[in-house]
Amino acid sequence: MENKPNPLFAQTIIDWYQRHKRALPWRETTDPYLIWLSEVILQQTRVAQGLPYFQRFAEAYPTAQHLAAAPQDEVLRLWQGLGYYSRARNMHHTAQQIVQEYGGAFPDRYDELLKLRGVGSYTAAAIASFAFREKVAVLDGNVFRVLARVFGLSDDIAAPASRKVFQRLADELIPADAPDTFNQAIMEFGAIQCTPVMPDCLFCPLQQSCFAFTHGLVQELPVKSKAKAARPRFFHYMVFEHEGQYYMRKRLSGDIWEGLYDFYLHESDSKILNIATLLKELNDAGIAVQESHLLPPRKEYKHVLSHQKITARFYLIRLDFRLNEEVLQEARLVPYSPEKIEALPKPILINSYLKDEKILLNL
Ligand code: SF4
Repeated sequence: MENKPNPLFAQTIIDWYQRHKRALPWRETTDPYLIWLSEVILQQTRVAQGLPYFQRFAEAYPTAQHLAAAPQDEVLRLWQGLGYYSRARNMHHTAQQIVQEYGGAFPDRYDELLKLRGVGSYTAAAIASFAFREKVAVLDGNVFRVLARVFGLSDDIAAPASRKVFQRLADELIPADAPDTFNQAIMEFGAIQCTPVMPDCLFCPLQQSCFAFTHGLVQELPVKSKAKAARPRFFHYMVFEHEGQYYMRKRLSGDIWEGLYDFYLHESDSKILNIATLLKELNDAGIAVQESHLLPPRKEYKHVLSHQKITARFYLIRLDFRLNEEVLQEARLVPYSPEKIEALPKPILINSYLKDEKILLNL
């Protein structure tokens, strides 16, 4: 059994929002570029973590033209630490698309916004409603949770088919005269009042009409099936050093961290390095090193991504010769000084290693 859409819902949420909203810079603007920037940054990121990144990006690239003209390495470097780097690459590409195909101005309709790379239904709805006041309801994790609890929807929010059910309800609820405020309000309500764990039901203005509260189902709703367990991966990094320079390479597409810089990587299905296999691989690549050259790792680094669990170990190899050009090209390695490395975009795990080893001091 579910609650029927309640005409007072929108007004209650909006009233609550006016009293409780946090002052955030992207709420003070109707510039679609800045709104888009904030939405891309805030996907899978908490507001407190995303805020300084938003400020940095808005300052470095105040318009889509500025962002479009920036080198990709610079954009990725500014993004470093936020994770999900495809967001940064898509964002950069989209800025170029805006400049080339739309003359630098964002499309002003939901349907058109959906054509931009990396802009899904959520982001398109956010920009269309916040910047252009189009009546289109946003659906993010907060909105799913609030609607599931208040209206008693038990559809699995992880199932793509459920989206339609929630979208239909949200579209019924959103008022034509305040689509922007309603969207902000329901997301903020989910973020502050109706939180995943320990929602503040005691002081909630929707308490009397909330299905989950009145039926004792607050902990059960929303229903979300478990994600598949993350795949474990084991990275053994060979950190070649020669005369104060470290050999790094830019990661290619088709795997995680595209466009970021790491070291020579030997991946295996175990955290234990098979030295014989590694030495043969290196020899085949023209890098003649002996087991005694490998300085064993001091610690293990772990990094959890949405579908992968990375365990990495770093082996420092101090070379008393320079790797020749052919070998470098084949292995796509380039020697960099610590100063140059500082400016390169790197996965956070690589950054941690460089910091621990005091190769980079200004992090
Ligand atoms: S009563 Fe509790 S579960 Fe219901 S909307 Fe309010 S905070 Fe959320």
